Amino acid sequence: MIFLKSESEIEKMREAAQLVSRTLAEVAKEIKPGVETGKLDRIAEDFIVKNNAKPAFKGYGPKNNPFPATLCISINEEVVHGIPGNRKLEEGDIVSIDCGVEKNGYFGDHAYTFAVGECKTEDLKLLKVTLESLYKGIEQAVHGNKTGDIGSAIETHCSNNGYGVVRDLVGHGIGKDMHEDPSVPNYGKSGKGERLRTGMTLAIEPMITRGTWKVKSLSDKWTIVTADGSNAAHFEHDIVVREGEAEILSTFDYIAEITKNVILESSYG
Ligand code: MG
Ligand code: MG
Repeated sequence: MIFLKSESEIEKMREAAQLVSRTLAEVAKEIKPGVETGKLDRIAEDFIVKNNAKPAFKGYGPKNNPFPATLCISINEEVVHGIPGNRKLEEGDIVSIDCGVEKNGYFGDHAYTFAVGECKTEDLKLLKVTLESLYKGIEQAVHGNKTGDIGSAIETHCSNNGYGVVRDLVGHGIGKDMHEDPSVPNYGKSGKGERLRTGMTLAIEPMITRGTWKVKSLSDKWTIVTADGSNAAHFEHDIVVREGEAEILSTFDYIAEITKNVILESSYG
């Protein structure tokens, strides 16, 4: 069931999304070689609680194995859902930080992949192309298009660069629940899938690898890694479908103020 949001609901969703954006920037301040991922998680949780909201990922999932943290922190070949802990970031890592909050009954969920210190050119290109693909997907998120138009735009851009497009995990509707209908795959055929309508709110989130699209999960039953060990990137925005042009509720602007990350030199976001 797809829920179309009123303008007042969209305002609340913007607040939730913007809190995630500001949380990611708080975390960005500490991203450097030697920092423990658990420290980043505590910074995020404190900031969210201080802003009268709840971390949405903590406790999410099956009762016998709920996600234990505020952030998903996924390093190098880890694609998504990595669990923060005592691992330290190293020079040259790429690290995806995904964060969700619930504020005033509405959810925000978005993600950014950071370069830690000096990274390989090949990895920086992966980040750049994945970020570009996110905006190419968002360009298609307009009234009258279909979810396949979004997926096709993302897939085409990434495949043209020789990358793998993860298929096992997809974007989604978002609102009073973190995951709502419809599914928003990062692959597909234009003109196929669910029809997009004004007022639909979506989390669009390409998960892209330098190798295969195939992934597997680790024994913690959360961390998803590439099957071939190639590095992966993940960027996610929350958007509203509108006539002519989608509106982006989240922003990477706060991150851009913190980091001189090369992929933010463009005018995106
Ligand atoms: Mg999501
Ligand atoms: Mg997310």
